[in-house]
Amino acid sequence: MSLVYDYSNPTAIHFGKGQIASIVKHLSKGNKILVVYGGGSIKNNGVYDEVKSALEGFNWIEFSGVEANPSYETLSKAVVLVKEQKVDFILAVGGGSVIDGSKYIAAASLYDGDGWDFLCGTATIEKALPLGAILTLPATGSESNTNAVVSKKSTNEKRFFASPFVSPLFAVLDPSVMSTLSDRQLANGLVDAFVHTCEQYLTCPNTSLLHDGYAETILRGLAKLASTWDNRKDAVWEENLMLLANQALNGFIGSGVAQDWATHMIGHELTAFYGVDHAQSLAVVQPSLLRVMIEQKSEKLAQMGENVFGIKNDNEAVIVAIENMYHSVGVTTNLNDYETVDNKVIENIIPSLEAHGMIAIGENQNITLDICEKILKMAMK
Ligand code: NAP
Ligand code: FE
Repeated sequence: MSLVYDYSNPTAIHFGKGQIASIVKHLSKGNKILVVYGGGSIKNNGVYDEVKSALEGFNWIEFSGVEANPSYETLSKAVVLVKEQKVDFILAVGGGSVIDGSKYIAAASLYDGDGWDFLCGTATIEKALPLGAILTLPATGSESNTNAVVSKKSTNEKRFFASPFVSPLFAVLDPSVMSTLSDRQLANGLVDAFVHTCEQYLTCPNTSLLHDGYAETILRGLAKLASTWDNRKDAVWEENLMLLANQALNGFIGSGVAQDWATHMIGHELTAFYGVDHAQSLAVVQPSLLRVMIEQKSEKLAQMGENVFGIKNDNEAVIVAIENMYHSVGVTTNLNDYETVDNKVIENIIPSLEAHGMIAIGENQNITLDICEKILKMAMK
């Protein structure tokens, strides 16, 4: 396969301890800034105070309470605030949920209709307020990509949009803010980044040594972090997770190559119905998906086995190695381990996938609803 792609990543990255103060390089005193954050972790770990002192002399207001898996219902309140207060810059301070939510706010605030139109695909984003991000949880890559995932609580929906208009202008990646993350969130970050890389790498044979080598470096790095989990409070461990998760979904490794994303599409439905964390949903879906699609993915699984895990000619062993890696950081691959999961998984998830147009997903659009059902049944052990 010869490569054809357009790639641009306009987000300026400020990496390292003490970099929160760099946000002022991108802001003007004439801006009316909305600082968006979540449930208050930034108030407990000093990040809020650092932002406050960086913004001294600037004109800013705040919107808090963006929840994990940000909801349309909450974000709509922020959109009203932006319009009322004539905000012209959004500063997201948090993890993927706050940053994704801020992308939604930035786009919906300049749209005359209902912003949910972007999520259900009936409208395309044509403009957005400028935004910047201060990342507090490495996982999603949202701090320097074009994607956002938003949930509608009233209908149990979790959907996504992507637009270059919501690329953050800048992102601050200060690994020292990770010290207050729970094991659960650290593990989630590691798993999400691993699956992001797989969604773009574990697809078709590829001729680009750069794309494959780059993806394998990320995968090996994340596997190494899992195997050194006991060191997760070390600054170097944290720094590496922040670097790897950022590059796992930063646009380049997916440029010009076939992409899968079926694990994410099925996982989103599981989060919407059962409230399992995003990464937890991925860890239960991915191994089953790989088993069901093992023939189609055989060449790339073999390459991953050899170059990431040192396993030769045994693709089932590669899938087991991935599962063991998730287990080693405390993330289960069995959907039935979650208490919220009932016996209606198939009757809830399959019609919802269909309603969202997910009837033929994966890199070859051949993961049909019957295959999704097989994957979900296999994930319930
Ligand atoms: P998150 O939902 O943003 O945050 C999870 C929890 O971690 C929150 O309770 C948050 O608390 C807390 N937290 C964040 N930083 C912390 C810190 N430094 N110390 C202590 N607690 C902290 O988690 P996420 O995994 O980053 O984001 C998940 C969302 O992103 C999902 O909706 C998923 O679908 C989406 N996603 C987006 C992309 C993309 O490309 N845009 C890719 C994959 C997934 P606070 O509320 O107090 O901040
Ligand atoms: Fe993800």
